Amino acid sequence: MGGCVRDMLLGREPKDFDVSTDAHPEEVAKLFRNCRLIGRRFRLAHVHFGREIIEVATFRAQHSGEEEGSTIENGMILRDNVFGGIEDDAYRRDFTINALYYNINDFSVADYTNGIDDLQAGTLRLIGQPEVRFREDPVRMLRAVRFAAKLGFRIAPETETAIWAMGGLLQDIPPARLFEEVLKLLLNGCAVQTYELLRHYDLFKYLFPETDRCLGEEEEGYPHMFVLRALENTEIRIADNKPVTPAFLIAALLWEPVRSTVHKVRQKDMTEAQALQIAGRDVLAEQTRHVVLPRRFTTQSREIWQMQPRLIRTGTKRALRLVEHPRFRAAYDFLLLRALAGEDVQSQCDWWTRFQEVDDEARHAMCQGRKHSGQQRRSRSKHRKEEK
Ligand code: ATP
Ligand code: MG
Repeated sequence: MGGCVRDMLLGREPKDFDVSTDAHPEEVAKLFRNCRLIGRRFRLAHVHFGREIIEVATFRAQHSGEEEGSTIENGMILRDNVFGGIEDDAYRRDFTINALYYNINDFSVADYTNGIDDLQAGTLRLIGQPEVRFREDPVRMLRAVRFAAKLGFRIAPETETAIWAMGGLLQDIPPARLFEEVLKLLLNGCAVQTYELLRHYDLFKYLFPETDRCLGEEEEGYPHMFVLRALENTEIRIADNKPVTPAFLIAALLWEPVRSTVHKVRQKDMTEAQALQIAGRDVLAEQTRHVVLPRRFTTQSREIWQMQPRLIRTGTKRALRLVEHPRFRAAYDFLLLRALAGEDVQSQCDWWTRFQEVDDEARHAMCQGRKHSGQQRRSRSKHRKEEK
């Protein structure tokens, strides 16, 4: 159902198998002992088989808009619990390729929306009238981008036109729901393509407005590179089955706004670390008005930022303690990205790389040596300005 039939027909391994049925959730619960009913906006039965969970959804019908006052507001669907038949169910799904049903009785695929044709043509097409369907649920615009990037599909012209016109509706989506969507968008293994499409359709600004603003002010290809490098790095890590923490991604996506805020808030008697602390707090506060970023992640993102000035000061005894910090590895990876993106921190990257490779004795020796003093750094950045 939905995603898994699509993925199997494309020869891709489905992430999960969802089942649809004409039985109501309560009836499903009666049939299976290990069943839990979940969801408010969209009620579902979860049937547990050992560690596996099979999601069982009851066929839904499109809303007439007249039932229960609270179901639809300004064309937006708030609840989706009106049951119906399989064909009704197909029409209320988002894209034609997501509305294919595999019938286990006769092994046929039921296709009410020409999904197979679109699947073969590589077209992502919203079912029904795009304006109506995006108004019902604006998150479908983000889903369109996610599937287009993941499957390498083209968004159908009429669907695309509606995205251009209706992106602003994303401002009405609760910031908590947007966070879940952002994770799916950026952790799907195609982060770069997804990001390019988000920018192309001008949707990125509803997710990360301050970052988007910085990208607009890009100079010498600089700000643009940081986010891109971070996303490339994410893709590679996912491909290598390495863990990716949302904290790192958040730190990377907001780095440009943080940097520019540091310049604004820093006063004469302030250290860079103090300015970073204020900038980090302000940027996160503003960001959270658009997309909720859970504190368990942002605390770590702030630590990654906070460690940056400490990593710049190489050659002192502090390095011995810093390298043991739980966030050291992430902060070091972050420094590498900064260098890749063109910031003047390559010599510090090299120092830390070597510091991690050598034994204790050599580490101590590295800490006795010459310091990267503020003096040196200042003269280097002056040099850089002159180059421009
Ligand atoms: P994935 O591989 O990412 O899980 P999926 O297609 O299974 O892709 P889900 O978010 O798991 O996506 O949703 C399952 C199915 O439910 C979709 O294929 C689609 O038919 C339907 N669906 C999900 N979200 C919406 C929505 N916002 N509007 C309409 N239909 C939706
Ligand atoms: Mg799914």
